[in-house]
Amino acid sequence: MVERKPNGASGIDVTRPSVARMYDYYLGGKDNFEVDREAVRRVEKAMPEIRQLAQENRAFLRRAVRHMARQGVRQFIDIGSGLPTVGNTHQIAQEITPDARVVYVDNDPVVLQHGRALLATDDNTSVAAADMRRPADVLGHPETVKLIDFSEPVGVLMIAMVHFLTLDERGPIMRQLLDALPSGSHLTATHVTTENHPPEAVAQIEAVYATTPTPIFFRGREEIARFFDGFDLVEPGLVTIDDWHPDPSDPAPQPTKWLYGGVGRKP
Ligand code: SAH
Repeated sequence: MVERKPNGASGIDVTRPSVARMYDYYLGGKDNFEVDREAVRRVEKAMPEIRQLAQENRAFLRRAVRHMARQGVRQFIDIGSGLPTVGNTHQIAQEITPDARVVYVDNDPVVLQHGRALLATDDNTSVAAADMRRPADVLGHPETVKLIDFSEPVGVLMIAMVHFLTLDERGPIMRQLLDALPSGSHLTATHVTTENHPPEAVAQIEAVYATTPTPIFFRGREEIARFFDGFDLVEPGLVTIDDWHPDPSDPAPQPTKWLYGGVGRKP
């Protein structure tokens, strides 16, 4: 684990839960503090299936990356990559395209520190510190510029990410990303939903995330679909992620139905 200096030189804030470290704990990782685990316990009260949700989400990521790679996408920007885990984007893409290039973008200091060690493993992978709310910083980051050729299709991943944007932020941010991408590029995203579960559970989870620097917003399918404006959703469209090209090898005993996900292609 990294140095424990609250708000110190490392930039790591251990006084508030971090969504990156909470997510790491959902996945069974060790890069989290008591403040994060405590927040997770509160989430679990409203959403006992949270760990399964995280596994489902990673399984969707694997299927979506394979899909994009098979469509000929050779370069990826994984925005809000999270802590390194089993089956990171470059490992999945490189199984299909050995020289696939991936830039991992995040703004959490723990993610950046571990990512530099574990994700930036060769000349085709890199880690960039940038905020998704500033697409120009993401797109213009020296590591992005070094690895991504914007005259060829790009796969943008915003997995378990776009629900951290407000509706006011959605239009301008997604538009800037869309505009930077050439035809044939893909956007893959997942987003927590208000559908399928009691509103009290949604309210409780939103309340926990409101104590982090990254509030979360559960939404209905129609609002989630608008993140894909300008992209054509590939089959089967925007669905709960267990229904997106299910793969028998993915562990999904009982789908949680908490996340919508899809892959859009820029025409
Ligand atoms: N995409 C991964 C991880 C999701 S956890 C997956 O689906 O498995 C969300 C990640 O987004 C965390 O690592 C968090 O640090 C990062 N994040 C949250 N807000 C961000 C922002 N505004 N800019 C960049 N990264 C952000």
